[in-house]
Amino acid sequence: MKQTMPVDGKFELMALPYAPEALEPVISAATLGFHHGKHLLAYVNNLNAALPGSGLEGLPLEEVVLKAQGGLLNNAGQILNHNLYFGQFTAPKADNAPTGRLARAIDEAFGSFDAFKEAFVKAGVTLFGSGWAWLSADADGKLVITQEPNAANPVQRGLRPLLTMDVWEHAYYLDYQNRRPDHLAALWQIIDWDVVAGRYED
Ligand code: MN
Repeated sequence: MKQTMPVDGKFELMALPYAPEALEPVISAATLGFHHGKHLLAYVNNLNAALPGSGLEGLPLEEVVLKAQGGLLNNAGQILNHNLYFGQFTAPKADNAPTGRLARAIDEAFGSFDAFKEAFVKAGVTLFGSGWAWLSADADGKLVITQEPNAANPVQRGLRPLLTMDVWEHAYYLDYQNRRPDHLAALWQIIDWDVVAGRYED
């Protein structure tokens, strides 16, 4: 997977690859503003404050996640998780679906795209508390769905993360309140499958 390097010893807040209102009505500009501009920014600032003297200075974010512990790991993990999350969206599309080799791998692993979507949303809905549902590839390119609590990332299991849904309440509460299943079902409209396929091919 692509490596994220610090610049002058600090990690930067990722720039969103779309306008703040581009994902509406699936994700509102208000939710995006808090989620990206407040929550993710806090993780970035916390990690940058904790890195000096940790022995992990200068390493790519992906390696910090593999080597850090405690608060350092929580903040680094949340930055990696959110960079993958915010990087995978595009404006809403009807009949939004993957194509090519990724689509075939999904069919092979889960039976069909619909069966995959059902299993993925179930992973998100049944995750107790805060965390993330993930689609990842193993070393052989086989696809798996996992539930990761809090700030965990599939790289910690040796998997390559491709697609994720954030089920922390901050990801959806302004727009959907307690209706996590509705939020997750709506996210399929804004997945940028070219980005996800690119992660699969990397
Ligand atoms: Mn989040």
